[in-house]
Amino acid sequence: MESANHLNHQEYGAIERAPLPRNMIENSMFEEEPDVVDLAKESTSYPIDSDDVVYEPRSSRLLVRGLGENDLDEDEEDYESSARLLGMSFMNRSSNQRSAASSYTRHQPSGLCSMPSAKTTVVGVLLLVVVVSVFMVIYFVPGCTFTRKGCQKTNSTMEKIYPISTSDELFPWTELRLPSSVHPVHYNISLHPDLKNMTFQGSVSIKVEVLNETKIIVLHSSDMNITKATFQDKVVHFLEYKPWQQIAIKFPEDLKKGLYVLNIDYTANFSNSYDGFYNSSYVDTNGTKRVLAATQFEPLAARKAFPCFDEPAFKSTFLIKITRESKYISLSNMPKVKTTDFKNGLLEDEFKESDTMSTYLVAFIVAEFSSYSTNVSNTTVSVYAVPDKKEQVHYALDAAAKLLEFYNNFFEIDYPLSKLDLVAIPDFLAGAMENWGLITFRETTLLVGNNSSPLDKQLVTSVIAHELAHQWFGNLVTMRWWNDLWLNEGFATYMQYMSIKNVFPDLDIGTEFLNVRFKALAKDALNSSHPVSTVVSTPEQVEEMFDSVSYEKGASILLMLNATLTNGEFRKGVIEYLLKYNRSNTESKDLWNSLSQVSKQNLSVSEMMNTWTVHKGFPLVTVKRNGTQVTLSQEHFLLNAENSTDYSTLWHVPLTYVNDSCSVLSSCKQVFHLKDKTAILKLPGEVKWLKFNFRSDGFYIVHYDMEGWKALIDALNGNINVLPCEDRAALINNIFALSRLGRVSFRQVLNLMDYIRNENETAPLIEALFQLDQIYRLLDKRSELNLVSRMTGYIDSHFGSLMESQSWELETSVSKMTLRSALLEMACSLNRLNCTTQAKHLFDQWVHSNKTSPIPSDLMRTVFKVAAQTDDGWDVLLNTYKHSIYDAEKHKTLEGLASTQDVRKILWILKKSLDGSEIQTQDFPLVIHTICRNFAGYLYAWDFVKENWEKITQKFPLGSFPIQSIIMSATSQFSTKTHLMEAQNFFSSLGAKGSQMRIVQEATETIKQNMRWMENNLNTLQHWL
Ligand SMILES: [Zn+2]
Repeated sequence: MESANHLNHQEYGAIERAPLPRNMIENSMFEEEPDVVDLAKESTSYPIDSDDVVYEPRSSRLLVRGLGENDLDEDEEDYESSARLLGMSFMNRSSNQRSAASSYTRHQPSGLCSMPSAKTTVVGVLLLVVVVSVFMVIYFVPGCTFTRKGCQKTNSTMEKIYPISTSDELFPWTELRLPSSVHPVHYNISLHPDLKNMTFQGSVSIKVEVLNETKIIVLHSSDMNITKATFQDKVVHFLEYKPWQQIAIKFPEDLKKGLYVLNIDYTANFSNSYDGFYNSSYVDTNGTKRVLAATQFEPLAARKAFPCFDEPAFKSTFLIKITRESKYISLSNMPKVKTTDFKNGLLEDEFKESDTMSTYLVAFIVAEFSSYSTNVSNTTVSVYAVPDKKEQVHYALDAAAKLLEFYNNFFEIDYPLSKLDLVAIPDFLAGAMENWGLITFRETTLLVGNNSSPLDKQLVTSVIAHELAHQWFGNLVTMRWWNDLWLNEGFATYMQYMSIKNVFPDLDIGTEFLNVRFKALAKDALNSSHPVSTVVSTPEQVEEMFDSVSYEKGASILLMLNATLTNGEFRKGVIEYLLKYNRSNTESKDLWNSLSQVSKQNLSVSEMMNTWTVHKGFPLVTVKRNGTQVTLSQEHFLLNAENSTDYSTLWHVPLTYVNDSCSVLSSCKQVFHLKDKTAILKLPGEVKWLKFNFRSDGFYIVHYDMEGWKALIDALNGNINVLPCEDRAALINNIFALSRLGRVSFRQVLNLMDYIRNENETAPLIEALFQLDQIYRLLDKRSELNLVSRMTGYIDSHFGSLMESQSWELETSVSKMTLRSALLEMACSLNRLNCTTQAKHLFDQWVHSNKTSPIPSDLMRTVFKVAAQTDDGWDVLLNTYKHSIYDAEKHKTLEGLASTQDVRKILWILKKSLDGSEIQTQDFPLVIHTICRNFAGYLYAWDFVKENWEKITQKFPLGSFPIQSIIMSATSQFSTKTHLMEAQNFFSSLGAKGSQMRIVQEATETIKQNMRWMENNLNTLQHWL
């Protein structure tokens, strides 16, 4: 699956995750002055009437105004001054905290004096154990009922306690995972979706094999009404346990080994979220409402469409039949083999029996779609869209054909099906989904209109490349269980960058991949991170696996491995793996074993890579040079280290380095395998400087001694080209990370950054902008107005002339576009006159020419964000959002709309995007993300999230990528004690509705990290900025 990361740039969280989001473009909504709110001014020109704004955030009033009872109709001066006052009061409060915290820190060393003696400690601990044990016995045992899941765990010596099924009988199974005694072999599925009444009827016939004698068959089913069930043609009684979405049949005697047939007839409503078999609607250009039905099963929703053994290792074949009205077409994984006319206005399509595959890859669609096709080898590739957008499929068709050819050659295994459909679904939550033979996409990630820029094409190409790679990694060979999801997602992510680099070199995908690696490092530096391969059991934990670690860290460690192996060994090992496990399931070790077998080096791939998949986090490598002797050491790079329990983790680091005599070409690279805590590297001769982690191919951060940093900075000040641009970007990234860790002072960061005035390459410049933007936003949100203004001055002095020199004309180079859109978005958000004037000029031209005078697509977001600040501009954008048939344009329009600083508009857009009435609900995470960039709306967005949590979690599953994105967007810019407590109170109030999510830990940890950074660096900033 492609999470919406790319959209902001992808798969769901796109917003926070991908290259675009890292790109300043997404990240900079700086508002220097939080004073744009003009509530007294009545605006009649936008569609917000008082009835629309029924939502009133409660704690925003508290937080923003410091008052309890004011409402939105009071005048703006009150709001504005309260906001400023509040900023002040936050500052005061946090400085109180600061002094409290620092006095605590100072006392720490002398804390030894007050340490209890060992004896006292032992007695205390024993006492505590007794008290806790008594408490647990009193509390848990009497509370233990059959329906209480926790009971079995609290006392493992008790007999199994079976849950109660819906019919009040005991349900005969006690685990979330299905028993392994019965396997499905083949499914016959007939479906009749009724798009008028939003219901469907289904009938499934499952041929199962009993592998071990058993008295029960257990499978998954969710939200359906089973009308009839037979086993070997005899009616059987089903038991259902809804919390685990399981159904079971009990037999009086053991079933002998062998094949049996289970038939189930059922009815169900279409899902009203974005998973299972769900309906979607859109309005065509004639104003007619159209409906369609589509599926999204990964990870756990095939069970909502048909009863099934819904775990990836239960692979099976599928034969699917769909009944439809004649105005619709139907699509499924396999090509259609026949259509039967029932003569009652209904037709039934039957699809060819599928390859053996996992349930999460099954898909079907009933819709009015048009398509174009082409042939690649023995496969017909087609791209489908709604008829209004039929002409926007050509780019995708061409890209898919080229990429399919690349993968057929690279893997030396041809794509096995005779057709491959790529379908743009008008309402779709993920970025895309790799269903075998029927890949589904958001419209933004597949359609390319006339006014799309190469940057839009980069997004579309990336998502197609990702999903096509899944046809091998995921579909042909599948992880055994969701704990190894990275085998699917890390690989598809890595292959997307590798294939595009080869097939579409003009798309400058290398910069994008570098940003993705930096982003993965930032996430993995937190204690809330998790190993690439980790234990998962509950549905929320499965959803949570779709995160930066599985995708981006997974891809990063594969790059590091490929860069370490030589002579095409990586590719050979991958081919070996695909051949060996074709159509079956694997674990991480199977991949490492295949790669070890082909490696001619004296290198155990398994031994090395295990250290990267079983531990969370990554190493900080510290380099100290004394003449020709270099001392290397490694430790866990962990922000918020006081939470850490394990300092002993060691990685096998394939450490690469170059020196001043040879530093740019790949042939300069040397490798040292650092496996121990410390090691000595002897250089053959004197060097001026050393740079480790060549081109940032390795997943680690490097710190040098003072002389080491100084020598590198001096070298860059002399000539930036002594290092490749990836290395320069990595130095910037690493030194900011080290400052967060407290290893270097912010003064040292600024020392390095001085060279940036000479920088001209995209990768280092956007990394520098990204890092400064993060700090700027924190300062802005704290209303540190003096520092905000100084930071503006700093950015001006280092990037001002570059900002002024950017062209506003059409541009063709992706690299130049990436750079100028980042620079200009920041320039306009800092209210640089030249920028806002140009943006307004382009917008006016566009409006007056009836949108025929084009705005360069890479500048659209910047232009729209400026235009959205006036009522007239906002109206034009809303109108464009509603009527544009170009999704890339719509997307940027929405970002413009959400960047308004008018509170009423902010509240309107929050409400509309959650209920889906005028803004698509799929874009709610993007709306939250964009609003939270701004001072004006971020606390309103936070309140909105809190007060609508129930509704939000009905639309997006707990733990899923959209939920992760929403939480992080809403909280990641908090940096005060008050906000920390506010967030913690909310999270703990969620109970079973989310308090256990990993993202909650991540959010809390991020706020604490922000607080610590501010405490440590505010003085430095005052002094040096
Ligand atoms: Zn994927």
